[in-house]
Amino acid sequence: MAPLCGIIPEYVLEGIIEKGLAPQHTIHRCQFTLKKTKQLQDVRERHRQSIAAAQPQQTSQGIIPPYILETLARNATTEQKREAASHILAYSTKHRTVAGRIHQLSRTVYDTQNSQTDLTNNVNKCYDGLGKTYDFYFNFFQRNSFNNNGIKLDGFVHTRDLYNAFYNGEELVFGDGDGVIFDGFTDKLDVIGHEFSHSVVDYTNRLPYQFQSGALNESFVDAFGIMTVDQANWLIGEGIWAAGVNGRALRDIKNPRTAFEDAQRDFKKLPLSNDQGGVHINSGIPNRAFFLAATKIGGYAWEGAGPIWYRALSSLKLPTNGKATFKEFADLTIESAGEHVDKVQEAWTAVRYPFPEKRHEL
Ligand SMILES: [Zn+2]
Repeated sequence: MAPLCGIIPEYVLEGIIEKGLAPQHTIHRCQFTLKKTKQLQDVRERHRQSIAAAQPQQTSQGIIPPYILETLARNATTEQKREAASHILAYSTKHRTVAGRIHQLSRTVYDTQNSQTDLTNNVNKCYDGLGKTYDFYFNFFQRNSFNNNGIKLDGFVHTRDLYNAFYNGEELVFGDGDGVIFDGFTDKLDVIGHEFSHSVVDYTNRLPYQFQSGALNESFVDAFGIMTVDQANWLIGEGIWAAGVNGRALRDIKNPRTAFEDAQRDFKKLPLSNDQGGVHINSGIPNRAFFLAATKIGGYAWEGAGPIWYRALSSLKLPTNGKATFKEFADLTIESAGEHVDKVQEAWTAVRYPFPEKRHEL
């Protein structure tokens, strides 16, 4: 089965079901979310493979007029959009030139259930979150949308009974919370940044979603997700858990293991059937390396460690077959570190670089 990132790992949902302590409607929602996740896995993998087959494209220079993009947005073309989108709630297409670069921010927010209740807030948060994330990549990494070619951003809100937020290769989908287990996903900018960043990684055709390669993928998007938030506190998914659930966030980049039960641990060799080989579990190791590098370098993370990590990914030197290792990625960041090479080396050494133990092998 092909992989799909939901911000809530499958094992967390399975844990809620297995414990059986939650109300019945909560259990049903967890089951629905797991089913939905599996349905969307193939969609994302097909999309990833189609990206891999395509040649990198040059910036289009805005040759498509905005009114055509808006018409395309109104007439959602893919089968999935026809099924899912009852109607479009908000859209805009703005092209302008900033310091010689094309800024093409096109976004559409769809309602997946044609619901009229309690909707405006989610629409605005999704719409604003997509724009802020686009601007984060444009301003600090000179990236024009996640394909670096101005691709339109599609967000789906109010997905009934979905306990998750995910990117399926084409769209960013946000479920509602219920106030019992989850407080909702649409208003979390780091979650939007996390899912958006999965698209960025997919478009590099590096870090397929399994084993150490997948954990590096998860870690990269956690690091870039947290950087989209102005006041970074190193917590991914803070506020996701409803009151009464014992969790500060989904993951703590600074102190893996401490955010929610056993969400992060030391390196664990796991089969593909368990969290794609531990992609949300072993990601704590490169996450902490990023935190250490960012704090040793100092200043804003998006000016210090962020560009080093971004250069390592976009060097396109990592293997495309899903066998990238922590050491390979660490070496690329060290190569890309320039004047900060010693600090980046120290950060990785603190998490056991060069990972010599047998248990670090795939
Ligand atoms: Zn993810």
